[in-house]
Amino acid sequence: MSIETRPRGLLAVIAIAVFGAGLGAEATAQQEAPPPVVNVLEVRDDIYMLVGQGGNITMQVGDDGILIVDTQFANMSEAIVAAIREISDEPIRYIINTHHHGDHIGGNGNLRLVGDTVIGGNMPGAVPYAEGGGAQVVSHENVLLRLSGALGGQAGDDPSLWPTNTFFNDEKQIHFNGEGVRIVHQPAAHTDGDVVVFFRQSDVIAAGDFFRTTGWPRIDLNGGGSYRGTIAALNNLVDLMIPVYGQDGGTLVIPGHGRLSGIGDVLDFREMAIVIGDRVEHMMEEGMSVEQIIAARPALDYEPVYGTPGNPEVTDQFVESVYLSLMQERD
Ligand SMILES: [Zn+2]
Repeated sequence: MSIETRPRGLLAVIAIAVFGAGLGAEATAQQEAPPPVVNVLEVRDDIYMLVGQGGNITMQVGDDGILIVDTQFANMSEAIVAAIREISDEPIRYIINTHHHGDHIGGNGNLRLVGDTVIGGNMPGAVPYAEGGGAQVVSHENVLLRLSGALGGQAGDDPSLWPTNTFFNDEKQIHFNGEGVRIVHQPAAHTDGDVVVFFRQSDVIAAGDFFRTTGWPRIDLNGGGSYRGTIAALNNLVDLMIPVYGQDGGTLVIPGHGRLSGIGDVLDFREMAIVIGDRVEHMMEEGMSVEQIIAARPALDYEPVYGTPGNPEVTDQFVESVYLSLMQERD
């Protein structure tokens, strides 16, 4: 990335560790787990990436307040609030969830109550959920249907984590802090409730988990995900991005997991997913069983980049998920 196209403040990384008393019980329960640390990256003016445990958080700040995309785990909330307060004292007005997985929605109940002075959930100074009102939690309706158990899968027993404002069509739009924000459904990709969140003016996209830089695509078949939907979502993501000609820069993507990305990262990931899917499909047409396909290692040449060193089962599970998803289409 050249100096000219480097996003402002890219190197302004702040690490904040919180040893809050409110986390004492959970810290004990987790034995020697390290204290939660949240790293903050300024992506563009007023857009930040918060990296802790679980999925990445995207944050937009301004005079209207704070909008965040995803909330990591509940035990991260206090460290997340401390990191946010280094940047803005405004209340959180909107939380957008990219999908229903616990590492993206676990802090919903806490963070939706982060107003001017109070912090929510079980933390000190919290106000009860029902009284506080708090931020709107926006998602595709399938996120709520999954969390409430209506669609099967992982039913959550904590309604304070559930979205409060859902949509069932292709897209929801919010104008906030002087910026148009598009929340665009990506059907049956990583799950059936995936959305990308496109900050139009900032030219930043929070992609959720169908795009990650830390490993293979994860297709949650029980959560309504699919191989083809993952490819379609990656195609949609590429379509939304406008690169600077001949170099890095242009639209930036905050993946569900991993590092801040440009068009090259997304294109590489999409190509990998397409090539491996084509190989698996070809082997299926040859009549090979799933065991034979896994043994043939159709992801072999991509393993150094996307595999987990010392843990070949992760690659096998990915290949199996592609097979099962393609097999589902035939039924
Ligand atoms: Zn996920």
